[in-house]
Amino acid sequence: MKVPHWQLALGAALFTGGVAVGIRLQVPGRSPTPGDGPAPSTVRPAAGDALFTVIPEGKRPSARPDIVLISVDTLRADVLGAYGDTRGLTPFLDQLAAKGTVFERAYASSSWTVPTVATMVTGLYAHQHGVDRGAFQAAGVASQPPLPDELITLPERLKGMGYRTLGVTTNAHLGGDLGYLQGFDSYVNAGFEDAAFIDATVRDWAPMMAKGDQPVFLWLHYFDPHDPYTRREPYFSELEARSLDAVSLAAPRQVRLDRALELSKMLGKALKDNIKDFEDPAQRSILQNLYGAEVRYTDEWIRRTLNSLQLSEDTLIVFTADHGEEFMDHGGLGHRRSLHNELMQVPFIVVRAGDIPAGQRVSAPVRTVDLLPTIVGVAGGDHKAQVGGTSGRNLAPLWRGEALSPEPALSTTMKGDLVQESLVVGAYKVIRRNQEPLVQLFNVVDDHAEKVDLGPQEPERVKEMLATMDKLLAEGRREGATGAVEVTDPETLKMLEAMGYVDADEDDGYGH
Ligand SMILES: [Zn+2]
Repeated sequence: MKVPHWQLALGAALFTGGVAVGIRLQVPGRSPTPGDGPAPSTVRPAAGDALFTVIPEGKRPSARPDIVLISVDTLRADVLGAYGDTRGLTPFLDQLAAKGTVFERAYASSSWTVPTVATMVTGLYAHQHGVDRGAFQAAGVASQPPLPDELITLPERLKGMGYRTLGVTTNAHLGGDLGYLQGFDSYVNAGFEDAAFIDATVRDWAPMMAKGDQPVFLWLHYFDPHDPYTRREPYFSELEARSLDAVSLAAPRQVRLDRALELSKMLGKALKDNIKDFEDPAQRSILQNLYGAEVRYTDEWIRRTLNSLQLSEDTLIVFTADHGEEFMDHGGLGHRRSLHNELMQVPFIVVRAGDIPAGQRVSAPVRTVDLLPTIVGVAGGDHKAQVGGTSGRNLAPLWRGEALSPEPALSTTMKGDLVQESLVVGAYKVIRRNQEPLVQLFNVVDDHAEKVDLGPQEPERVKEMLATMDKLLAEGRREGATGAVEVTDPETLKMLEAMGYVDADEDDGYGH
């Protein structure tokens, strides 16, 4: 949808102003000092952190509540206490999760920012919105298609329903000039920034947000857990002290820490190119502790920012992530190289007193493509009645204890020549690649680490899931979107045939 001129001007002004800030702080990609703004306290929030203003007795939840969408870049679900981690990295988010409903198995549509955030704001899979390429270079973001004008984004939908729409994001791939201005009254993207930047922006907006009768939609996208990792203290030292080998390996650890930070500063590529250095579990634990400290730091800043907003408990809060991060779980570092659980399972938490049950956990698989219809549904809109369509669905029946038929979760990713696709149906996930291993099947419930390929034992299930995947991948494919994995090479076809994944007597090929 076209952005009105005045809106574009406001957004562009904020964006331009932000770029200047971004450059000033970009050493090497974002502020390295936790000291920008007040240093987060090491004191854990009190049990009764007054996050919400209580709705007066007898007042019903409003038809159009305020909505706060929080997404954190590169946050794998299993580092949250609410998803089973025991290191205490997310005390605030765990407290928030206890006030609402936790979707235990939420799947992102891709393993990196560009396609998966576009899914969140459009309710479409990557092959449908087509925003599936892009790189960050010295001069900025290159080769990234903007969010198409004709797609009706989440803020556009909410604005059309009478919301005031505000967004602050800290990943350069979500720039206003890349289509993310659509639907926002105010949108700030200053390139790569830390959580303190979001806090400062939101505090500037708070007086304006408190005025007027219109409900508010606020989107905060945090970047901190993404590499390059910054040493966040005191959290990093606390985690290091608890690492089993911290004492015996104190001196070599310091050398390895310096090396890890040095590589991390050279941006993610250097870290990944030096992957051998991290095969040793002791070395790897330094990276995990750097990442864990970033997660703890982000949790603390979210606590501060949300507390400063004095939200009514009627507010809908949705918390999620764009994708996870791997620490050699499947032989890699960072993300984008696989479609395994450590990258694809993200936190998905919804909170709203009087509507969403507190302390409820939903084990049925859901998807980030469901985020838009769910938010629009809570705001009283019918996403199906709107132009633009979506591949997602409103998840409200799941927290209301009503039946909702299961839907498969599709994910796709591309890195260089490697194209990968996966589909989760119930407990099973099939992964298909255009490089070996070509096809794998996992039971992601019993085998969360995805170590045992069940494909050879269950070729019929694989075939059926691949057929479903092909059908989904053909639905609404956008011109210019990255192609699906197509296997036409006779040698590869022969191999798949031998594995039982294609029928020898089928003459119409594979992957269509
Ligand atoms: Zn990301």
